Order: sequence, then C-alpha cells, then structure tokens
Amino acid sequence: MADCVFCRIVSKQSAVELLYEDDQMAAWSDIRPQAPVHFLVVPKLHIPTLLDLEKTSDPLIGNMMRCAVQLAKSKGIAQDGFRAVFNCNPLGGQTVFHLHLHVLGGRAMGWPPG
Ligand code: AMP
Ligand code: ZN
Repeated sequence: MADCVFCRIVSKQSAVELLYEDDQMAAWSDIRPQAPVHFLVVPKLHIPTLLDLEKTSDPLIGNMMRCAVQLAKSKGIAQDGFRAVFNCNPLGGQTVFHLHLHVLGGRAMGWPPG
C-alpha cells in the first residue's frame, strides 16, 4: 500500500537498518523504543490487523514468532525474559495498520499492561 509506512520500509522506499530479512518478513528497531530492547517483526505482505489473518497465514505467524525468539536470543534478552505482543485496533493500542509483532526486553514488564 502506497501510504503505509511499513510497506514503504519492506519495499525499501524508506531506509531503515534491518535486524533481519527474508522473503516473508523483516525486523527492525522501533523508532520510539519503550524498553532498552524494542524491535518489530513485520510481514512483507500488507495485512492490516490480526483480524485479517487467514488459515494460510499460519506459517507466516509461526515464522514471525520464531524470528522474534531468534532475535531476542541474539540481543541477549531471551533468558531474563521479554514480551512479544501484537496490538490490535485502537483499544489494543495499534497505531500502524500493517501487522507487526513488538518484542520488548531489557527491563521488567508490568502486568496488567497499560
Ligand atoms: P502499534 O502502536 O502497535 O501500531 O506500533 C507501531 C509502532 O511502530 C510504534 O511503536 C512506533 O514507534 C513504530 N514506528 C512507527 N514508524 C516507525 C518507523 N518508521 N520505524 C520504526 N518504527 C516505527
Ligand atoms: Zn503496509
């Protein structure tokens, strides 16, 4: 989608330093980090929200989770613990309507979340 900030990044129209990339997804650091480590795992396909997932998306979501874990390990936050979260729609805190998995670590996470 032309006016989607994450489509622009995965299509290389906007330059960001990627932490990971394959044919399905890319990962990069959040521009407004909410923890010492905060990165996003983002499918290249424009899927607006979790509500748009279909059965055919299952392998993609599994691969995104595995990518998140791999990067969490390489960033050194895996053993102490981290949070991986999809925000969905306005009350879920979603502001960019291109599916993305947040991974946050390097500090204690509160529960319930804000
Ligand atoms: P959400 O509020 O769950 O939709 O998360 C969107 C996230 O994308 C926020 O944490 C933003 O800080 C982050 N974000 C927005 N634009 C960029 C960008 N150009 N590069 C990196 N992160 C971004
Ligand atoms: Zn998009």
